[in-house]
Amino acid sequence: MKRFHEAIKEGLPILVDTTLRDGEQTAGVVFSNREKLRIGKILNNLGIHQIEAGIPIMGGDEKEYIKELVSYKLDSSIMAWNRANIEDIKQSLDCGVDAVAISISTSDIHINHKLRTSREKVLESMTKAVEFASKHDLYISVNAEDASRTDMDFLVEFARQAREAGADRIRYCDTIGVLEPFKTYDIITELINKTGMEIEMHTHNDFGMATANSLAGLKAGARFIGVTVNGLGERAGNAALEEVAMSLKHLFNINIGVKTKDFRNLCEYVARASGRQLYPGKPIVGSNTFAHESGIHADGVLKHPSTYEVFSPDDVGLERQIVIGKHSGSKAIKMKFVEYGIDLSNEEAADLLEAIRSVTVDMKRTLFDKELMYIYEDYLYEKKKAPTFGDR
Ligand code: MN
Repeated sequence: MKRFHEAIKEGLPILVDTTLRDGEQTAGVVFSNREKLRIGKILNNLGIHQIEAGIPIMGGDEKEYIKELVSYKLDSSIMAWNRANIEDIKQSLDCGVDAVAISISTSDIHINHKLRTSREKVLESMTKAVEFASKHDLYISVNAEDASRTDMDFLVEFARQAREAGADRIRYCDTIGVLEPFKTYDIITELINKTGMEIEMHTHNDFGMATANSLAGLKAGARFIGVTVNGLGERAGNAALEEVAMSLKHLFNINIGVKTKDFRNLCEYVARASGRQLYPGKPIVGSNTFAHESGIHADGVLKHPSTYEVFSPDDVGLERQIVIGKHSGSKAIKMKFVEYGIDLSNEEAADLLEAIRSVTVDMKRTLFDKELMYIYEDYLYEKKKAPTFGDR
């Protein structure tokens, strides 16, 4: 937990990873406890500030695993998730975590139809739970579930009472993912102006804007960003750890000390553990992120990588690939064959380019290295066989 408190002192943006709580809550995703412990350790080694580990009130296995994760005494703060009631928090205390998320809905839709209670009761339950937690020396995030559909005056009142009861921050939950960045910026600015509270952005990706919304919140003054590896999370998922961290580094020029070089490994591991594929076009870590096929792009990248790459592939544990396909140019082909110790003449490269294009169009895909070699062998064979002037 040391790292978490140091980052707060330094005034840096703070990442709160909830792969192990919100990520596992995704329909169809089940991690084993061993996988959860391993993911927790990797996140810690990566430099994540706070790890939301799970929900102790679920009991049994979940509790045992959280206790074990706490026993590792990691640099990351370990947070447990709770509903706004004392029994949940007692279970978290039993696990020895240093931080708790205390969650209750604040929107009228949720209050009327899900909780079937009143705004007053919501404030009362939250206050009691937070007061109990703050007596036990816990760092407290009060989660306003469905905050993005909550009446602003009520949200302000909720945040004020939370602070009075001892809360350290408010988690602003865009539970169903209905924010857009401009609206997010305005709302978070207003919320901070009216309450002076520390805010955590917790955004969902239903319209593909989870990362953008979390960064808009940051720009408005929120210092905490909730993320998950690969954006794993309910429905379309959450803001992705790798996207947010690399955006902070390269678009905002803020160094939060996260070891991004391990991103591809982590993302692959979590993809496997969650039974999901890491699709080729996945921002930051997809296998296509550093694959160049078009002649113009490949030529540019070979001359100077920054022509078509924002950061270096080894920054996230990937490798650059020049893919040979329909859009390749003869320079890329020459370079590819140098990998096999074959130095093509310009004429040969031009001839091969034609053959390669027709095969890729037939196959509707790029070519494997072996297939390139077959085309080359056939080309040499045909060239030898072809009648040259004077043969007859
Ligand atoms: Mn969520």
